Amino acid sequence: MKRWLDSLLDLLYPTSPSAGDARAVEEPFCHVCGEPFAGELTPLTVCANCRGREWFIGTARAAYRSEGEVRDAIHGFKYNRQFHFLRPLSAWLLEGYTRFYDGQRYDALVPVPLYPLRRRERGYNQAAELAARLGRKIGAPVWDALRRVRRTKVQARLRRSERIKNLRAAFALRESFSGRVRGKRLLIIDDVFTTGSTVNACAQVLRRAGAARPDALTVARG
Ligand SMILES: [Zn+2]
Repeated sequence: MKRWLDSLLDLLYPTSPSAGDARAVEEPFCHVCGEPFAGELTPLTVCANCRGREWFIGTARAAYRSEGEVRDAIHGFKYNRQFHFLRPLSAWLLEGYTRFYDGQRYDALVPVPLYPLRRRERGYNQAAELAARLGRKIGAPVWDALRRVRRTKVQARLRRSERIKNLRAAFALRESFSGRVRGKRLLIIDDVFTTGSTVNACAQVLRRAGAARPDALTVARG
């Protein structure tokens, strides 16, 4: 979206939109993937999903659970071209950033890419739109450093084990970023975190290219 339109919307609606009945992700949660826990835990508790898993990210955080208005907004923006949802989604993403990553010095935000054909069909990449708005708010550049090299099945329709398999070798570094990400602290941006396979596959490519261990931020977690 155009920058002037962003500014206009911010002027018209200065307060952060309500997430309705969606619950914010709050501690206690797994310190790696942010999965909320019920009950007691130590600061270094790792959830069952993360135990024995090879993570290439440092931490993954989401602002809200994927439910109610948050879930509807993500769905509407992603699949039904309901662009008016970009504004609340960006506000919630910024809220998550402020809550979990404020004060971190990231060299750049890296959106999860779409496969080119899907990008053309949809007309936009929801993760890139979110990253662009967050980048402007926090003064961080957005690097379109990754590309999707295989057309993967829609993750939402797959089981966990299938998701991980589905994403094997699905991403690559764009040639123009070769050498540029070395030693950089990057924050991967996406709309939803479900099993983490997508952000992990992206992080693996960035790590291989020499980046420091990236973190991930999404609007919601499934
Ligand atoms: Zn975990």
